[in-house]
Amino acid sequence: MKKPVIAIDGFSSTGKSSISKIIAHKLGIVHLDTGALYRGITWFALQNCKDENLDIDLQKLYSSFPLIHLEFKNVNEELVLYLNDKDISVDIRTNEVSNSVSFIAKQKEVRDFLLQFQQNIAEKGGVIMDGRDIGTVVFPNADFKFFLTASIEERTKRRYQELLGLGIEADVNQVRENLIERDRIDSERKIAPLKQAEDAILIDNSSLSKKETIERILSYINN
Ligand code: C5P
Repeated sequence: MKKPVIAIDGFSSTGKSSISKIIAHKLGIVHLDTGALYRGITWFALQNCKDENLDIDLQKLYSSFPLIHLEFKNVNEELVLYLNDKDISVDIRTNEVSNSVSFIAKQKEVRDFLLQFQQNIAEKGGVIMDGRDIGTVVFPNADFKFFLTASIEERTKRRYQELLGLGIEADVNQVRENLIERDRIDSERKIAPLKQAEDAILIDNSSLSKKETIERILSYINN
């Protein structure tokens, strides 16, 4: 049987990546966290492409694309993001990256650069990809599409705990503001905005555990 292509989109901190990772494992397919790719480009820009006012110089970033090699490596059963052979999996979760990523992600040049990368991975089928535009733009013909949402209180709690777990200092109010602001920019941008695909299944997991959300998703796939 051909392995499925599954699109998981939704608001920030609805658990998309951690849920997708477990489903990938259960179904024996590849997981790709596309948010990590946008964060990786943002981290590169913050390191290498600032102008004299310390703002990101987009033209400098675009001309650096040939120098950016992103790759997920399998380290102890975990997919770890490398940029030019450096493990950047923790660096991309910092507040500095979170505060700039939606600005970087709304640029057409950036989206074009990453689109091909994402589509190539699914050429052989058997992938679960999570992001904002997977069901609408990256894989409009995905076999299954889900759109996750949850209350802002619940999402703030989850992101705050995630940051603490990574050893990154965090302030609850700042975490909340960052989620609201990113969702706003992601939803309002012209290219590939965050929105539910018409044929996606909506799941509000405010009062569902991770396990329950996974079971809900699998109930559609295994049907
Ligand atoms: O998933 P995560 O919260 O790590 O994504 C970080 C940011 O990357 C999002 O807020 C959004 O700006 C951008 N993104 C995107 N399209 C995707 C995945 C992420 O624009 N498919």
